[in-house]
Amino acid sequence: MEWNRKHVFDLEDFSKDEIETVLEVAKGYRESMKSAPAKTFDYLKGYTLMNMFFESSTRTRVSFELAGKRLGMHVVNFASSASSLNKSESVDDTIQTLDAMSLDAVVVRHSTIGTPQVVAANTQAAVINAGDGTHAHPTQALLDLLTMAEMGIDFPRAHVAITGDILHSRVARSDVYGLTKLGAKVTLVGPPTLLPEEFERLGVDICYDFDKIIPEVDVLYMLRIQKERMERAFFPTIGEYAKLYGLNEKRMAKAKPSVLVMHPGPVNRGVELQGAVMDGDRSFILEQVSCGLAVRMALLQLCVGGWVTR
Ligand code: ASP
Repeated sequence: MEWNRKHVFDLEDFSKDEIETVLEVAKGYRESMKSAPAKTFDYLKGYTLMNMFFESSTRTRVSFELAGKRLGMHVVNFASSASSLNKSESVDDTIQTLDAMSLDAVVVRHSTIGTPQVVAANTQAAVINAGDGTHAHPTQALLDLLTMAEMGIDFPRAHVAITGDILHSRVARSDVYGLTKLGAKVTLVGPPTLLPEEFERLGVDICYDFDKIIPEVDVLYMLRIQKERMERAFFPTIGEYAKLYGLNEKRMAKAKPSVLVMHPGPVNRGVELQGAVMDGDRSFILEQVSCGLAVRMALLQLCVGGWVTR
C-alpha cells in the first residue's frame, strides 16, 4: 500500500486501491479506540489544521477538530462570520493570508461547488473537502463505507438503496462513487422531481417505488430533505413525502432482518425516518459518527503525514 495524494476533493477520482487504503488505516484507529476511546497519538505533532466551515456543521466539523487533536495537531477553527470576509476580503485573499501563517491542512465546507480546488490553488496545505454545495462530500462517503464494512457488508455482493432528496445531496453522489468502485449494486430511490434520470449514467439503477425495493436491499441509506437548497416545491406536502418515502416500522417489517439503516445526519425525525426506526436496533447512525472520526484521522495521517503504516 502506498499513498501519493495530497488533496481530497471527491471520490470520483479515487481509485479502488486508495479507498481501500483509507479504510484499512481507519480500521487501525477504530481498533485502538475500542480499547482506549480517547487515545491520542503524536504522529502529526507540530502540524497545523485549519477548519474553514462556511456552512453549518455539527458532526463533520467536530470530528475533524477531534481527529486533528488526537493526532497531536494544532487545530484552528476559522469563523467566517467573524472574519474579514465581512470587510469584502475575497476567499482567495483570505486563504493566502492564512497560508502565510504556515498551515499543513485545510478542511473546507462551502455552498459553492469547487471551493476546495480554489483553496488548494492558494495554499501549500493539504486540502480536504468537507462538503461543496450539492457536489461532493467524500469524507462522509468514506465513513459510510467503513461503517458498512464493519457491519459485515461484502461490497461485491451488496445492494444499497439510497433514498430521498438525491437531487440536492452531495452525500448521495460521493456514496455512489465509493460504493460502485468497491463493486456494490446501488439503487437510487425518490420522487421523480428529486431523482433526475441522468443519475443513471453513474452506473446505478433508479426506482421511484420505495416499497418495491425494500425487501431486496442490504442497506437502507436515507437522506435528509434539504429544504435550505430548495427554491420551489418538489412534493405536495411533507406528510405526503413521508407517506411515500419515509422509513417507518411498517416498511421495516418488509426489509431483510439483517438490513442496515443509515443516514448522514442531521435527521428530520418523522419525515425520512420515523423516530422508532432511527432509535431501533437496525440503525447504525451513531456508528457512522464514530467511524467518521477514524476516517478523518486516517485521511490526515495519509494526506499530511504522507505515510500508510505506522
Ligand atoms: N451532513 C450532510 C451534509 O453536509 C447531509 C445533510 O446535511 O443532509 O451534506
